[in-house]
Amino acid sequence: MGGPPVPSEGVTLSEPAAALPDLDRWRELPAAQQPEWPDRAALDTVLSTLSSVPPIVAPSEVDELRTRLAEVAQGRAFLLQGGDCAETFDLNTDAHLQSTTRTLLQMAVVLTYGASVPVVKVGRVAGQYAKPRSSNTDALGLPSYRGDMVNSLEPVLEKRIPDPNRLVRAYANSAAAMNMIRAYARGGLADLHAVHDWNKDFVARSPAGVRYEVIAREIDRALAFMKACGVDDTALRGVELYNSHEGLILDYERALLRVHEGRAYAASAHFVWIGERTRQLDGAHVEFMSRIANPIGVKVGPSTTPEQAVELVERLDPDGVPGRLTLISRMGNGKIRDVLPPIVEKVTASGHQVVWQCDPMHGNTHESSTGYKTRHFDRVVDEVLGFFDVHRALGTWPGGIHVELTGEDVTECLGGAMEISDEDLNSRYETACDPRLNTGQSLELAFLVAEMLRG
Ligand code: PEP
Ligand code: MN
Repeated sequence: MGGPPVPSEGVTLSEPAAALPDLDRWRELPAAQQPEWPDRAALDTVLSTLSSVPPIVAPSEVDELRTRLAEVAQGRAFLLQGGDCAETFDLNTDAHLQSTTRTLLQMAVVLTYGASVPVVKVGRVAGQYAKPRSSNTDALGLPSYRGDMVNSLEPVLEKRIPDPNRLVRAYANSAAAMNMIRAYARGGLADLHAVHDWNKDFVARSPAGVRYEVIAREIDRALAFMKACGVDDTALRGVELYNSHEGLILDYERALLRVHEGRAYAASAHFVWIGERTRQLDGAHVEFMSRIANPIGVKVGPSTTPEQAVELVERLDPDGVPGRLTLISRMGNGKIRDVLPPIVEKVTASGHQVVWQCDPMHGNTHESSTGYKTRHFDRVVDEVLGFFDVHRALGTWPGGIHVELTGEDVTECLGGAMEISDEDLNSRYETACDPRLNTGQSLELAFLVAEMLRG
């Protein structure tokens, strides 16, 4: 065979290129959406620092998530992924992380009951710091904000210039956040009874509560039944929580690659996805992600053809590993029922077992009459309904949802039980990028999806 030796078991190299030279093939290809760093030497210094830091996630955790997602791909589990559109360094606080985690866990309990299968929980958290943009300049004519990993949201020219030191801050913030998330997963926040009590509280207070009372009461009875039977499993008191982000800034992802037992792992997150704007088949992102051991995702928008989808699947899941690849459809509620079926059919016929996940957010964005980028809750729900319709008709498994949400009472998306209107948006519009479902809207969505899962 020749070539460099494969590292021996258990050894993690900080410089993987020597062992796996193909890891750098992406450098020969066009990479969309990369920052124009003003100072290459400063960037190289930062990347060299990042190439030796401890990983944010462990290879064993990444492998565990891959086996969980294999269950999703085979119709035996459901995937819930959610969090901010863009995390910020300022809001990387205990309070913010707790509220996002708590909302995800509350949704997961409802979905677990609805689906009667395990729910795999993945936050858009601990690293969601880079954003692709449709324009290089914003409404003020300034260079666009590209996420805290790159530049500042503050509308000041100097602060919009990409600063490589932000990559180190992104790493440090992600590592600190992941540390707390692991603690929440083991601590009181994850206790099933506590989470259910918060849901009962939501049902009691929400104007739409009556509709969800039935499911909440059934969960209550199921818990009481388990207690009566003497079930007091640690499984009810802790959860597995994974992190994810869009793998956008390739220099950052490359510096955080670690080789473990001969395989390259993105150590920046358990799961990374390729965005709608960077999924070119001959582009650097697809090439880079095809080489890593992590489970990965790719967004597929309304212009995707079935042929392109199959090519993506073959490039990104060359070994045919169930759950290795998640296809995240984001078609818009008006298109999903037409565009998704031929894609599902052709990919299924290819024999690859992917996770089908619905992102009902990114195809449903519009500007409000009051000038805010927003989404209507009804369109979000309708896209998920369309996703379920398509999979039911084809006999495939609607594997999961991918949503932008926050555990706070923001007013960024319209509608929901609180009937947020165009005029309400300005009261708490706080997102650094796209509009998120607030806590109430997120829980309402979970109850509605639970109903869909129960058929
Ligand atoms: C996102 O998930 O925030 C995003 C930018 O999505 P997409 O690539 O689907 O537009
Ligand atoms: Mn977004």
